[in-house]
Amino acid sequence: MTDRYAVLGHPIGHSKSPLIHSLFAQATAQDIVYTAIEPALDGFADAVRAFRDSGGRGINVTLPFKLQAFEIASAPSERARLAGAANCLRFGDGGLIEADNFDGVGLVRDLQHNLAAPLAGKRVLLLGAGGATRGALLPITAEQPQLLAVANRTADKAHALRRDFAAHAALQTSGYAELAGQSFDVVINATSSGLSQDTLPLPDGLFAPGALAYEMVYGKGLTPFLRQAQAAGVQRVADGVGMLVEQAAEAFQWWRGMRPDTAAALQRLTVPLV
Ligand code: NAP
Repeated sequence: MTDRYAVLGHPIGHSKSPLIHSLFAQATAQDIVYTAIEPALDGFADAVRAFRDSGGRGINVTLPFKLQAFEIASAPSERARLAGAANCLRFGDGGLIEADNFDGVGLVRDLQHNLAAPLAGKRVLLLGAGGATRGALLPITAEQPQLLAVANRTADKAHALRRDFAAHAALQTSGYAELAGQSFDVVINATSSGLSQDTLPLPDGLFAPGALAYEMVYGKGLTPFLRQAQAAGVQRVADGVGMLVEQAAEAFQWWRGMRPDTAAALQRLTVPLV
């Protein structure tokens, strides 16, 4: 019997998830149908229940519903609980709704596996203190970097993360100006500045020799952050397409019990960084 999955977001027309999951299903010979659903902004919970009650097995969740996805869950993972957000739900018997957040593990998998940038012993900087950073903190910490720093335009939001994650990680948190004099091996832009084409006020010398600059936004070519990095001499730059594909692979494995190879999806979705 064909199993049904979907991605829910608003808007959803841009989503690459149906394509990614159909490639995974073909490659693994899984009999699934994966669609895109755009609930009204105040209609997320109703849409989830309707999809589940009609036989749906699980959903991915994108903006702006990740917080609501966490709230609707009866069994959230530790990762989702700490992030306060979920990007994946799985429906079980008796109304069970399990929730997880695969964005951070997708990021780490992309960095270490696809981009050959190990995090152990490295100085890692996350720019931004929103949901994407929240989701990344635990998976990055698990790789035992020498330092994990979070800098945000609104410094108080970064400091709040330090408090929330105190039991799991010793974060260095600040605004951007306080980064002066420090350098990092991996710098990840987890702000939405790539969407608005804004340039972040980053101090000189932020990128250590051989550093990787990673932009979570994908499909936009060279964003202002990646241009900044290149202007500072950084040769290794990447966008978030691999994070997107790898989080999808984690979801597919959680739902179907097998991990798809991600190379074909990555190749299909990669937009040259020019
Ligand atoms: P969010 O919760 O809305 O947080 C946005 C963050 O960006 C905040 O830290 C905000 O700073 C900062 N920001 C926004 N505009 C800025 C600007 N012009 N200058 C400086 N800082 C700015 O968003 P999110 O869920 O964390 O997502 C962040 C980005 O990651 C999005 O662009 C999203 O597309 C991307 N993302 C990619 C993937 C992937 O699979 N590749 C997955 C998840 C997210 P303030 O706190 O000061 O407002």
